[in-house]
Amino acid sequence: MAKLIKEKGDDGRLHIESPLMGESLVSKELLKQTEATEYFRMHPDINVLKIGGQSIMDRGGEALFPILDVLIEAKDKHKILLMTGGGTRARHVYNIGVDLGMPTGVLSKLGDKVSWQNAEMLAVLLSKHGGVKIGHGDNLEQLTMFCRQGYLPITYGIPPYGFFEHPAEYGSIPPHRTDCGAFLLAENIGAQSLIFLKDEKGLFDKDPKKVEGTADKDLEFFDRISAKELLERDLDDLIIERPILTLLQRAKCLKELQIIDALHHPEYILAALEGQNVGTTIYQEK
Ligand code: ADP
Ligand code: MG
Repeated sequence: MAKLIKEKGDDGRLHIESPLMGESLVSKELLKQTEATEYFRMHPDINVLKIGGQSIMDRGGEALFPILDVLIEAKDKHKILLMTGGGTRARHVYNIGVDLGMPTGVLSKLGDKVSWQNAEMLAVLLSKHGGVKIGHGDNLEQLTMFCRQGYLPITYGIPPYGFFEHPAEYGSIPPHRTDCGAFLLAENIGAQSLIFLKDEKGLFDKDPKKVEGTADKDLEFFDRISAKELLERDLDDLIIERPILTLLQRAKCLKELQIIDALHHPEYILAALEGQNVGTTIYQEK
């Protein structure tokens, strides 16, 4: 661990003096010294599962109920935090906002209510099995406690950027949505794993839905690929939000994530929780 705590002075008292005192906290050399050899992990047994908004929840009970059955079974064997996506309703409000020329931060505020609604629906559906909706405040320190007591905590995936959302690299849609929110939370709580529940086998070189029925239907599938390689390949479309690739390369705790087809194979959730690669694993490569 970087040694930033000053020793006690000769008089035995702890003097309030810090190596960071007077620093702008911008110097690359200084910042490198703040790297810990091992980061503290608050919830090392928690598995963060993000349920897609468009890919799962918008499809209603037919898609969702079989997944909930597996989650109810899984929660007795594994500690799980469920996070929710937005989906079509978020896309609708983005579309209106884009038409009105709204900046990214406004779009971010408009879209953030939808993953909250999806979390509410899951909490209602799972309430008799211990489903409990929590916010992004103090409950996040209590995740392990919730799971130990048999609860299944559920929170919304959208990160709290709002008016502070970063300008997008392309266009105006907020770049950090619920995939990024799930990633950032999993990283910062030191989660055991991060699994995205979607409606495709995993990552291909193109969106399989867009090549259906076209001449361009030869798809390359990736069962394991590094974030570095994906950044280099710079594919036009991805199954997870693009900023995750950069975030994963910089992550301190989370070294990989998995995307699975929970729509057609709800049972893959259990396999992924057991550590099997049943979809696409994207990993950090330095
Ligand atoms: P979610 O609701 O889980 O956030 P999205 O609809 O936003 O899901 O993203 C998942 C979708 O991304 C898939 O259903 C798929 O059609 C699409 N997609 C885009 N590019 C790719 C790709 N390269 N490989 C696989 N799927 C892709
Ligand atoms: Mg999405």
